[in-house]
Amino acid sequence: GGVGELVSTFPLQKEQRVVLRNSGFIDPNNIEDYIARDGYQALAKVLSSMKPLDVIEEVKASGLLGRGGAGFPTGLKWEFTYKAPGEEKFVVCNADEGEPGTFKDRLILEGDPHSIIEAMTIAGYAVGASKGYIYVRAEYPQSIAHLEKAINQAREYGLLGEDILGSGFSFDIKIRKGAGAYVCGEETALLNSIEGGRGEPRIKPPYPPQKGLWGKPTVINNVETLANIPPIILNGAKWFKNIGTPTCPGTKVFTLTGNIVNAGLIEVPMGITLRELIFEIGGGIPGGRGLKLVQTGGPSGGTMTPELLDVPMAFDTLPKYNSALGSGALTVIDDSHCIVDVVKSFAEFFLHESCGKCTPCRIGNKRIVEILENIERGKGTRESLALLKALGENMKATAFCGLGQAAPNPLLRCLQVFEEEFAAHVEGKTCPTGVCKLEKKM
Ligand code: NAD
Repeated sequence: GGVGELVSTFPLQKEQRVVLRNSGFIDPNNIEDYIARDGYQALAKVLSSMKPLDVIEEVKASGLLGRGGAGFPTGLKWEFTYKAPGEEKFVVCNADEGEPGTFKDRLILEGDPHSIIEAMTIAGYAVGASKGYIYVRAEYPQSIAHLEKAINQAREYGLLGEDILGSGFSFDIKIRKGAGAYVCGEETALLNSIEGGRGEPRIKPPYPPQKGLWGKPTVINNVETLANIPPIILNGAKWFKNIGTPTCPGTKVFTLTGNIVNAGLIEVPMGITLRELIFEIGGGIPGGRGLKLVQTGGPSGGTMTPELLDVPMAFDTLPKYNSALGSGALTVIDDSHCIVDVVKSFAEFFLHESCGKCTPCRIGNKRIVEILENIERGKGTRESLALLKALGENMKATAFCGLGQAAPNPLLRCLQVFEEEFAAHVEGKTCPTGVCKLEKKM
């Protein structure tokens, strides 16, 4: 059971499946279903005919960029880990998907758990690790159940554990459950959590390939990144480079949420536009309302306004427009929403999720929420807006980890893009959308 069964088994318009190749087509609890669709063939190929460096070269040549959100080159990460000195190394799968609006990894874990086990084992062979951990959020019980079953089946079939397929290579995987903290998806907080410590981030550098789990070289990859590995190994880097854009190859799973007719998720080639995603695949905005903004990659990502509907979606294109692809979450917000309220809801999320380790994030988010509440009540002034900007810029520059640095992203962008709407609140004491009930001056 699970969401895997809810995925359509017929191709939708513009859909191209690489990471969701099996989801919905196989029984995720039956290893034979996976094997019947070329499952564990990539692992067999790697163990029988490739040296670790061959594997790394193939992944590098594919141009695969990390799908957790930052788009760091996967092959390079593997190479760093391979080259780092040390007897013991680790592979970690980051399955702590916590970005609001993001649920792509869940589909892969529930619908095709063996693809992650196979990919992690290939990564282990490539970098010289014999142990792997999957850090999966406890809010995904079905993912955990499917992974547990898949790990046991892979062991029974000699595809995991000692002397895999008689190759002499050994690799095994353990599952670690998160406990609901968004910050534990930050890779170094995640490592602390696996080690049994508090889920607080570490300083970077050193990056995990140098000093990761228990201080040992560690490769950490997101679920969607890993799901790309077996097809890349089987079909070759050239095949992969033919999908998507030349500088950002492959597909991307986008999750469509908010004011959209067809909410859900879809895997399409990189380079697709927001217009295609929202108005063709997503069926547009309910009630024929206008588009106000699309938050890409969740609150930590970018804010795209209607004039950016035709920008190709890729890791390297969106930063040119002060936006970011991030995890691939698309939260569509129509013109009935008040920008102050939208930005406040994002800030409240970060306030709730701040781990409290550093002052800019712990106090900054608190002050941002307070100021926005004041603006909503009609108590804001021009100085409130200047203060919001200063707080946001300060957090961006001084917060300890990615969570705190990214928290003011939507605020800073919206202060600029929706300047008039903010001004209406603080100067005109009116809310153009009528959402805020501003108090009259005493
Ligand atoms: P980052 O740019 O610091 O790092 C990205 C990855 O590249 C990390 O694994 C890091 O170790 C590696 N890396 C970067 N430079 C390196 C170097 N010189 N040597 C070796 N490795 C190096 O970004 P981050 O803070 O890890 O992640 C931020 C991203 O996370 C954002 O894009 C955001 O969208 C995303 N995010 C995703 C979710 C989710 O649920 N998927 C949740 C929150 C945030």
